[in-house]
Amino acid sequence: MDINFVVGIFVFITGLSIGSFLNVVVLRALSDESIVFPASKCPKCQTPLKWWHNIPVLSYIFLRGKCAFCKEKISIQYPIVELLTGYLFLSTFMKFGYSFNTIFVIIFLSMFIVISTTDIREHVAFNLHSYILAIAGLIYNFFNFGHLYNGYTWIFHTSFVYAILGLILGAALIGIYLGFGYLIFKTMIIGPGDIFIAGALGACFGWKYILLIIAAAVAIQVLTFIPVFFQKLIQKKDYLTITEFIIFITIASGNYLYLKYIPKEIYAVNILITIVLITSGIVLSKRIIDTLPENLVALNEAMLNGEEIEEENKNELFHMPFGPALCCASLLFIFLH
Ligand SMILES: [Zn+2]
Repeated sequence: MDINFVVGIFVFITGLSIGSFLNVVVLRALSDESIVFPASKCPKCQTPLKWWHNIPVLSYIFLRGKCAFCKEKISIQYPIVELLTGYLFLSTFMKFGYSFNTIFVIIFLSMFIVISTTDIREHVAFNLHSYILAIAGLIYNFFNFGHLYNGYTWIFHTSFVYAILGLILGAALIGIYLGFGYLIFKTMIIGPGDIFIAGALGACFGWKYILLIIAAAVAIQVLTFIPVFFQKLIQKKDYLTITEFIIFITIASGNYLYLKYIPKEIYAVNILITIVLITSGIVLSKRIIDTLPENLVALNEAMLNGEEIEEENKNELFHMPFGPALCCASLLFIFLH
């Protein structure tokens, strides 16, 4: 048997187990508990779990998605995160092979998964997770793993100085995005935690590419809401939003074509397009929020202002998933660039 095939299976299984650990990191971050202690238990009935209840993916299938003791439903988040981590670990190994890069990509994407999962699940981003991402990025870019000779790192195609600038630019851009959105619409379009996430990504990708990642994230975020646009068009016959949407898509694809076909990037133009894209993103985000029932808008605002929200209301919360959009854009960059 091909040795790489065997190693591939090993990497995939390791990914499943790390995914299982990442689930614990997410759960403990949300419930304020230590990561290592106490032993894992059912979140509902608190019964300590046996080792065979903890096998990635398989346990979920054997238990038919229910706790072995109290029959409480186990969140589908667990097997999804495990499978996703396994898949991404395998992809990383296939792209970067036996190298320091593989180890670092694994660290980066583990943080992407943790940040996205807490954001999607409970609509919070923990600054600690962003700090870990930022520090890992700076260390990687400082030591230049992979491309020692020309000062440009293998994963991020950037340098340490650019990474420092990227940290500042990423945080500043999202800060401005949030600030302008608030000034114009008197509501927060995205959460303040996204400032830290974008700063951390800037520390990884450097100042040039953080622009592209933020632009791509805005596009991903808006595209996720295509169903909302259609609903609005059909139910309210709101042609203005559709017009805005078409303008947005035009700018976004223009940006893409520009980046793809103009080989020597002119960064001033790039910055300009990113700003235009972000601005139209703000307007569109606000108009999406406007389509929601009033009680949801109020809830959304309370959540972004950091107020306590009752457990039962949490499920109804509408959320502009910008953290996950940033992480998706980063993954695309790492694997496609
Ligand atoms: Zn239970």
